[in-house]
This record gives sequence, structure tokens and C-alpha cells, in this order.
Amino acid sequence: MSRVAYVNGTYRPHGQATVHVEDRGFQFADGVYEVWSIFDGRMADFDGHMTRLARSLTELRISIPMTRQALTQVLKETIRRNRVRNGIVYLQVTRGTARRDHPFPAEGTPPSVIVTARSIDPNKSEAVAAKGVAVITQPDIRWGRCDIKTVGLLPNVLAKQAARERGAYECWMVDEMGLVTEGSSTNAWIVDENGKLRTRDTQANILKGITRTALMALIADQDVELDERPFSVDEAKRAREAFFTAAGAFVMPAVSIDGVRIGDGKPGPITTKLRTLYLDQARDEAV
Ligand code: PMP
Repeated sequence: MSRVAYVNGTYRPHGQATVHVEDRGFQFADGVYEVWSIFDGRMADFDGHMTRLARSLTELRISIPMTRQALTQVLKETIRRNRVRNGIVYLQVTRGTARRDHPFPAEGTPPSVIVTARSIDPNKSEAVAAKGVAVITQPDIRWGRCDIKTVGLLPNVLAKQAARERGAYECWMVDEMGLVTEGSSTNAWIVDENGKLRTRDTQANILKGITRTALMALIADQDVELDERPFSVDEAKRAREAFFTAAGAFVMPAVSIDGVRIGDGKPGPITTKLRTLYLDQARDEAV
């Protein structure tokens, strides 16, 4: 089945879908993105991602490219044309194409919009989650506005590559106090020594994950205390359980950190329960 991408108003074969050499996304990473998980052809946490997209655009003063209704239509059509039942849909909006100059282009320059979608085998992701994955840690070298979901992801790319080269799945980034900020493309959580769920507060320089927010609402109904507070790498290594959240990864158990085994080295009971709760709700509420 051939893939199709949406680029600035047209659907093109994936291999021929291109943007201009002077697109500001390409030249300056001057753009933002969102990713939705797809269950049975429908998008999970739809409103959360849409709302964050609008916020990212507003923070960067990139104009809203089209109405929410039209954008929803494009996302759905891209999913449909690619025949994705389970997978992800990716949306990128940049400040558009203009002669390469740092200042914003002329008022009225249309933003660029691209959408792609791809299938992911749910059985494969479940097999990974059933075993749990390894995490490494590295210093967080990113800029001061990680609350905005920009396509400027070079530090995240380097962190993820470092993880891969050490046989790990994710890299947790660490601030100068030794506290974990977040993963290279995920939010970091532990069940600490006292059995409390911990994840860093979003006053810190991190992305407010939509999966994180959705999970927090579910946790409120569970018999476990949530402490929205940073934790150190040492605390993480002594934790009973560890996991991370993101669209696509859902709730992914981490069973080692920098080679140190977490708990008994298997996905913990709270993590496993939260994964099921999240997946059930995401599936039910997908649109
Ligand atoms: N932190 C970072 C740095 C990310 O890139 C992502 C995923 N894009 C997340 C956290 C998780 O966010 P979400 O749950 O909205 O996918």
C-alpha cells in the first residue's frame, strides 16, 4: 500500500511530498508539531493535542493555518488515505516559505502545513511493553522554552541516539541539580520508595504531555497518591517502578536506568495497571 502525505493543500505520494528549500521549518526549525495515536482509525486525546497545538502556535506568533474543523478533516483524510487502523498521525506547521532571513517574513506569509500517517503493529508495541525497556540518563542541554512543542529537536535526537547506542529505548534528561526533567520524547515517572507516583511539575522547563495529563485524570480515581514533584536520578534508581508516557508509547515500563535494575527488573503492577487504564480510555474516547 503506497503512503500519502498532505502538503499545503494537496495529497501527494509520500516519496514526492516535498516542501520548499526556504521553508522556515527546514531553515530555522521555525515550526511546531503534534502527534496523535490512532486506534481503529480514530485519534486518541484529540482535544488535548489540538489545544496544545493552538498554544504552541500562539506562543511563537505563527498564524493558525486553517480552522480547527478543516484541520480535523485533513488529519482524518490523511489517516483514511493511508488506511491506518493503528498507528500515529503527525502534523507540522511552520512559519512558511520566505527568503532566508532571521526576522519573521512579511505579514500574510501563509504557514506551511504537512500531515503524514503511518501504521504501527499494536502486537509489537505490546510485546515491548510486556518486557519493559531500558533507559539511560544524560544532561539536559535544551533551550528554555521546552513547553512549546517545536520541531527544534536536535538535543532530543542526540539523546535518543545515545540511548540506542547503549542498547536502551529512551534517554531521560537531567538538570544541573541532578533532577530528571523528561525523556527525549516522553514524560518520566516513578513509583518512589514510599509507593507514591512521582512526575515532574510543569512549572519546570518541560513539555506538558497530553498523555501525562490524561493519565493524571485516571490516577485521581485510583488508590495511589500522586506527587507532582521532580525526582533525582538516584531516587529513580531506587524506585519501585519507573515508566514514561507519550502518544505512541502510551505508558511504557522502564525496567533499568543506566544499567541499574528497577524493582525486580520487570514491569511493575502500578505501571501495568495504568497502561491498561490509559489504553482502555484512549480507545473508548478516540474520535
Ligand atoms: N516530552 C517530550 C520532549 C516529547 O517530545 C513528548 C512527545 N512529543 C512528550 C514529552 C510526551 O507528550 P505527549 O504525551 O503529548 O505525546
